[in-house]
Amino acid sequence: MGLFDRCEGCGRPISNGEPYHSDWENGIALCEECAPTWQDFKDEPGLFFSPAMDQHHTSETAKPLIDAHIAAGGAMTDKIGLVSDVPTSENCT
Ligand SMILES: [Zn+2]
Repeated sequence: MGLFDRCEGCGRPISNGEPYHSDWENGIALCEECAPTWQDFKDEPGLFFSPAMDQHHTSETAKPLIDAHIAAGGAMTDKIGLVSDVPTSENCT
């Protein structure tokens, strides 16, 4: 009952509170291990859906996000879009 979703990548149940990647468009979830990286986002931004924009990313919309991630000390190998059931401030600024 503590589980709310199952990873589409490896089939592993994802526990409540565990960071996971949510595919908003298809309503699927990926565990941290199977989540795409920023490099994947850069390579194929069209695979990523933005609920904020209500459309898929393009190289143009992806670039500033990637630049900001790198500027903040992130790496291209970092997992992207991990969320937990704790509200985040991702929509701020
Ligand atoms: Zn997985």
